[in-house]
Amino acid sequence: MSKKIQVVCSGCSLLCDDILLETKNNQIEHIYNACNRGYAHFMSYNSEIRLQNPSIRIDGNLKNVTFNEAIDKAIEYIKNAKRPIIYGLISTTCEEQKLGIELAKKIGGIVDTPGSICHIPSLIFLKEKSIPIPKFKDLRDYADFIVFWGCNPSASHLRLISKYSVLARGKNTEKGKEDRYVVYIDIRRTETRSISDLFLKITPEEDHILLKTIVSGLRGEQIFKDVAGISQKDIRELISNLKSARFGVIFFGLGFIMGSNASQNLQELNNLFFELKKLNLNFYAMPMSGHYNMVGFNKVLQDNSTKKINADFKNGEDRSYEDLKFHNLIINNESDVILIIGANPLSNLPYSHMKFLKDKKIIYIDPLYNLTAEIADVIIPTTFAGIESSGTALRTDLEQVKLQKSIDPPHNQITLDIILSKILNAVS
Ligand code: SF4
Repeated sequence: MSKKIQVVCSGCSLLCDDILLETKNNQIEHIYNACNRGYAHFMSYNSEIRLQNPSIRIDGNLKNVTFNEAIDKAIEYIKNAKRPIIYGLISTTCEEQKLGIELAKKIGGIVDTPGSICHIPSLIFLKEKSIPIPKFKDLRDYADFIVFWGCNPSASHLRLISKYSVLARGKNTEKGKEDRYVVYIDIRRTETRSISDLFLKITPEEDHILLKTIVSGLRGEQIFKDVAGISQKDIRELISNLKSARFGVIFFGLGFIMGSNASQNLQELNNLFFELKKLNLNFYAMPMSGHYNMVGFNKVLQDNSTKKINADFKNGEDRSYEDLKFHNLIINNESDVILIIGANPLSNLPYSHMKFLKDKKIIYIDPLYNLTAEIADVIIPTTFAGIESSGTALRTDLEQVKLQKSIDPPHNQITLDIILSKILNAVS
């Protein structure tokens, strides 16, 4: 008999909580309300690249073993490690993140995540500068001025547009799109252009210059020339609409924080918020984090250490987060054993860094096979949180949500909680 169950999607950081799954005989038969990315995420439980068996590399080849044998081998490598790294964790639940951090502490290891090169520093910046992050509910009900800057939600966070912002109909935005003014700022024209009222194609690396100009305009200075590839007419239109906003939100993506002028962009964003506040304009900002629980990792690390982005639990306190970024650790040859959890660093490490991984022991824990699994010495398959196991996560608007189990894993894969608890017990 088929069953319907309402669940949260962990396909991206929006963690949509209105997904309806229809299951029968431990299979997902239908998925309602998810975007195409969410649909693909749920269906990956059955994917061709689903890891089925634990394995260990012997004489250069991966050999299938039992879960206990794979975990014992991981424990052996970790116990003998001079300098272990735990990397990943932002696509895992808060409970699993806590265990990963406890393990790093216990073994005097380093913990880092892809979040250190993406939006965890943005989250910290917003908090330090008291720039508020909006709640999704308020976004839907009140946001009448929306800026997407250096991001493309039409591809990365599809339901941000339909469920929470541009097209959504809320208390004060009953007409949906007609009640909102949308600005899109990017170096290229993408699908997001089609839902914007004003598209500004900005010259690469000149975001901070445009921000400075907007701040000048808000202070009453005349805009008399084109700036950052944008016409003075468009800048004037942007400033005029900004001034009449009742609830404004600036969503910013990797295009805003990853160039060589990233720190200037954030500094100018802060200046903009300072000016908006002086004018009594009600504005918010939201980093467009991708991984479903990056926000959760930031909180769990702060709750369980003195650090916010990454941490070295041996040589400690005064190491900068830059120093502890995974690619820096790799090229500085800091580690001999790397535990990769729910991440695929080989997909984005520069090719020149690969050679530094050659003589490391790599333990790979994930539901799916990928490039990183190709070079792993131990592979331990896990369940999909939010499909085959439960837990909590923090949405990008900082709300906690519960991920629910709706089917059993197809090949008796075990949860990350169990794997990490076993390793933790053995090294304690
Ligand atoms: S927007 Fe994100 S969380 Fe929502 S259904 Fe799509 S992938 Fe899942």
